[in-house]
Order: sequence, then C-alpha cells, then structure tokens
Amino acid sequence: MAGKTLFKRIIDREIPADIVYEDDLSLAFRDINPQAPVHILVIPKQEIASLADAGDEDGALLGHLLLVVRNLAREQGLANGFRTVLNTGGHGGQTVPHLHFHLLGKRALSWPPG
Ligand code: AMP
Repeated sequence: MAGKTLFKRIIDREIPADIVYEDDLSLAFRDINPQAPVHILVIPKQEIASLADAGDEDGALLGHLLLVVRNLAREQGLANGFRTVLNTGGHGGQTVPHLHFHLLGKRALSWPPG
C-alpha cells in the first residue's frame, strides 16, 4: 500500500505547517514556497488525489473548499483580487497527489500562466 501523501501527513500533524484555518472538512495552511505575499493551500481532509479523481458525490465538498478560499481571501484583505489555482496531473503542474486549491494574492498576477 502506498504511503501517506505529504498533505495527509500535515492533516495528521506528522509534519508541521503554518495552519491558518481548519474545520471538519478542510485544512488551510501557508505554502512553504510562496509565489505571492499571500499563498495559502486549501485542502480537503478527505483523500482525493486530484480533481480528475473527484466523484460526483464530492460536489458539495468542492464547493465548500471554494467558500473557504473566499473567506480566507476576505480575511487576508485581498479586496484588489486574487487567484485560485487547482493544478491537476503532470501537465497541470500538480506535484502533490492530494487535491488542493492555491490562493494567491497581495500582488498583481500575470496571465497566461507558463
Ligand atoms: P502543486 O504543484 O499544485 O501540487 O502544489 C504543491 C504545493 O505544495 C507547492 O506550491 C509547494 O510549494 C507546496 N508544498 C510542498 N511541501 C509543502 C509543505 N511541507 N508545507 C506547505 N506547502 C508545501
């Protein structure tokens, strides 16, 4: 059986993280390699490897995660806007196989991504 993912180990408090929010369904913590002054990862406690692996029954959970992102954006003072990123799979740039939203803000972000 495959070992725990890095993010599962953070959920289980086996690895420290700068946690900024937690509820029954989700955990949010600061990215260890921030790409903007605010860079927070919002993850489900349920182990879903990626958006491609999410089921129809996960719709409410995915919606909940986005509302957590919205609330954190408000709390972090991102009134000028922010970016929410969900990398999926190799071509999507996903490196940790546990679904996570990136919340990036407090600087202007260019488009398109690389
Ligand atoms: P992704 O490339 O979309 O899979 O994003 C994974 C993110 O996890 C990257 O932005 C990493 O900087 C971040 N990361 C890796 N290890 C840790 C850690 N121990 N604590 C917080 N963030 C991490």
